[in-house]
Amino acid sequence: MLIKNSNNIFECQQCGKCCFGFGGTYVTKKDINKIAEYLNITPGSFINQFCDKSGTKNILTQKKNGFCIFFDKNCTIHPVKPYMCKAWPFLKTILKNPENWDAMANSCKGMKKQIPHKILKQIVLMEIQKLMA
Ligand code: SF4
Ligand code: SF4
Repeated sequence: MLIKNSNNIFECQQCGKCCFGFGGTYVTKKDINKIAEYLNITPGSFINQFCDKSGTKNILTQKKNGFCIFFDKNCTIHPVKPYMCKAWPFLKTILKNPENWDAMANSCKGMKKQIPHKILKQIVLMEIQKLMA
């Protein structure tokens, strides 16, 4: 198969697995402000109600069942979901360590494995730039 763009290497299967466990979803200050506005609460209330701490960083609380507090069959804050959720699996770390891609693919059935690293890095860079635009 000719690999031309992100659709050739990733297609989300909507399985919800990335909203489960995964060591926490970080929320940036920008994420916090956007989600709080969407929920019509203050950023402080958002942090109190929906975040836990991982070191000094805010992460979304996990429910007792292990899923993200905003997961209910699908993402209930989809239009404003955190950068980390929007970016997946096109993460900056892949630019430095493209071998991480296949390891990530073990937990995400939407990702295709064994993509030549040069092409993989080009696509990841394109996706990062799109998200920053
Ligand atoms: S684990 Fe992968 S395929 Fe499943 S919902 Fe998350 S991104 Fe989509
Ligand atoms: S914010 Fe949405 S996409 Fe991100 S982990 Fe929570 S439910 Fe999943």
